[in-house]
Amino acid sequence: MKILVVNAGSSSLKYQLFDMDEQKVLAKGNCERIGIDGLVTHKCPGKKDYQASAAFPDHRAAIAAVLALLTDKELGVIGSVDEIAAVGHRFAHGGEKLRKSSVLGEEEMKYLESIVGLNPLHGPPAISGFKACKEVMPKANHVGVFDTSYYSDMKEEAYVYPIPYKLYEEYKIRRYGFHGTSHRYVAGKAAELLGNPNAKIITCHLGNGSSITATVNGKAVDTSMGFTPQDGVPMGTRSGAIDPTVVTYIQKVKGYTAEEVDTLLNKESGLYGVSGVSSDCRDICTAAENGNARAELALKILVHNIKKIIGSYVAEMNGGDALVFTAGIGENDRQLREDVCKNMEFLGVEIDEAFNKSCPRGEIADISAKGAKVKTYVIPTNEEYMIALDTQNLTK
Ligand code: AMP
Repeated sequence: MKILVVNAGSSSLKYQLFDMDEQKVLAKGNCERIGIDGLVTHKCPGKKDYQASAAFPDHRAAIAAVLALLTDKELGVIGSVDEIAAVGHRFAHGGEKLRKSSVLGEEEMKYLESIVGLNPLHGPPAISGFKACKEVMPKANHVGVFDTSYYSDMKEEAYVYPIPYKLYEEYKIRRYGFHGTSHRYVAGKAAELLGNPNAKIITCHLGNGSSITATVNGKAVDTSMGFTPQDGVPMGTRSGAIDPTVVTYIQKVKGYTAEEVDTLLNKESGLYGVSGVSSDCRDICTAAENGNARAELALKILVHNIKKIIGSYVAEMNGGDALVFTAGIGENDRQLREDVCKNMEFLGVEIDEAFNKSCPRGEIADISAKGAKVKTYVIPTNEEYMIALDTQNLTK
């Protein structure tokens, strides 16, 4: 079965075509600068990478270009669009109702449209992307996979905020959690490695956006992102958790509007805000190595906050069987992994520092020290595969 995975952003449309029988990616790429000028990148294993400028006035034009590439005589990998049995669409937010991956019918779309207020950045482009795909592939099954749905089983005490309850009832203000598809994938892999589907696992998705999730019995019990992907650990440009009164205080002392504070906390904070160097962890590491004190401080704040969350989840779960690092920073920054795991012997976390420094990139690695009570793994994430798998399961 061939499945197309689509991730539509406001000006981009990323895609991967999977052959699920062969368990391989046939092609992948990205249409960028939709509505501006248009650039498409298309890669197929064994063929030369293709990149070209192309005019994409909207998502419909972008998906049409993708289908033309996939079926192209030279660059393509399928004979006809009809070979695509189903399309898996990534949605950041499924609200309270879309609690698991679902076939997208009219009712689901109406619901997704009704909750764009909760998800103003990602919701509208994901909906446009879906509509465009549905129009050009009317025969295919269309499935929505939601980042939030992994958190649908969290207990009320983990997701209701201690603010007037009517704000939850009226405006659905609560912890939703994000990056769920990534956490589900790596926690599932860790449970497989442990040979224990009931394991207590802490997964650290550390990238440009970062979140930490606690999983027990294959279900998320808590997560660091909240009502929006702003909560939790400091990120590239996002502050992560801070005292909420900082917001109103900034408004008072700087005379900022709500939008201006939003920009400050989302785009000017985090690693970038503290270091003043960059939002990219590699640049900050280089600056810190060259003696930049604020770059060093930004990294220390990141490590401090990751440790704090790990500790709180161990307490919440009454233990832990595995700690997992994934995403750009988690998979690649060996020093950060070492710093996070240092002085956690009390919790049973101990890593083999030499192997942590030398383990191959892009592969699953068990970096635990011999005899450590908690296994520490590096597991490359694969959200697209998870979306393809859910789509296949709902299409069979
Ligand atoms: P992602 O959002 O998962 O693509 O991750 C992006 C983040 O991963 C950026 O902050 C990168 O600087 C970081 N990253 C990628 N490679 C490395 C590396 N070798 N060392 C440190 N950070 C890295």
